[in-house]
Amino acid sequence: MAKRDYYEVLGLSKGASEADIKKAYRQMAIKYHPDKNPGDAKAEEKFKEAAEAYEVLSDGNKKARYDQYGHAGTGSQGGYGGGGMNMDDIFSQFGDVFGNDGSPFESFFGGGGRSRGGQRGVRGSNIRLKVKLTLQEIATGVEKKLKFGRLVMAEGLSFETCGTCKGSGQVRRVTNTFLGQMATTSACPTCQGTGRIMGKRPAGSNADGLVNKEEVVSVNIPAGVANGMQLSMSGKGNAGPMGGPAGDLIILIEEAEDPILKRDGNNIVFDLYINFADVALGTQVEVPTVDGKVKLKIDAGTQAGKILRLRGKGLPELNTNFKGDQLIHVNVWTPQKLNREEQEMLEKLRDSENFRPKPNANDKGFFDRMREFFN
Ligand SMILES: [Zn+2]
Repeated sequence: MAKRDYYEVLGLSKGASEADIKKAYRQMAIKYHPDKNPGDAKAEEKFKEAAEAYEVLSDGNKKARYDQYGHAGTGSQGGYGGGGMNMDDIFSQFGDVFGNDGSPFESFFGGGGRSRGGQRGVRGSNIRLKVKLTLQEIATGVEKKLKFGRLVMAEGLSFETCGTCKGSGQVRRVTNTFLGQMATTSACPTCQGTGRIMGKRPAGSNADGLVNKEEVVSVNIPAGVANGMQLSMSGKGNAGPMGGPAGDLIILIEEAEDPILKRDGNNIVFDLYINFADVALGTQVEVPTVDGKVKLKIDAGTQAGKILRLRGKGLPELNTNFKGDQLIHVNVWTPQKLNREEQEMLEKLRDSENFRPKPNANDKGFFDRMREFFN
């Protein structure tokens, strides 16, 4: 397959500025990040392709050679095996692109960055766990202790220096090109670039010298997360073979359905049921919220269907100080069975002038009221 033009890979045209190149790559890296596209080989290929393009175009010397000679100028015409990059190279490059700990998602998770620097070898696989949270936990944020099994290096596993590359992890190859002789280095095929090979495997370990071990980690889940969001903890996945860096622990947020409070974005919707006497006379009720019960005054003459708002009693928005509201939908409960005394009282009221409905322009229908609140 012909190698694609690096500018084309990043969706840029020749002469793009340094800032444009960085920006384009950042977008590609987030879009095709393996954490966001688990098991998608095409995305991974695109992720690597973009990283390689960025590696060349972000380096003044390499860029100049590439601009003049194309792929031949960077010794990268051999595809990913030659000038290509492995995942660890890509992740270590992220420090430069994303700042701080180099994780594109650090703004989400905060702290706990990738620490892949210096480690060589094949990266271990990610582990995915689901965590079910109540609305109350989502409202405040919560620390969760998670117990799970992960592959770790077996105790007593030993390594020997790789004979092919003498431990450097790289092999040098001199090739003749029309520019003259060119030396390229690539990962050693014997040890996959780790510089070492496995010695005697301890009993009970798998072909990669790994064993399953129960692990407990505690995760701080920030307030305001929603169903389907993912948090990742780098290096808490399965260990890589040959002492390679561990994959990530990916935590998938699941929202437990609350029997009383319903979530609508950052707002909480609550159905209040109240009897006719209370709305006619006015009363005080207690309503549940995500942080405990709140007293609420119901004015005399409140109409059924009215929506009351408890400002700031909803859910916080992730990574901001904004908080949603709790909306209280007033439902008037009609008694199902009346005793004789109640029946007589109501018969008397039935014909009262005050009981005749007199809706005016201010008494909006339910949908008008909903629209007013959500717009
Ligand atoms: Zn080797």
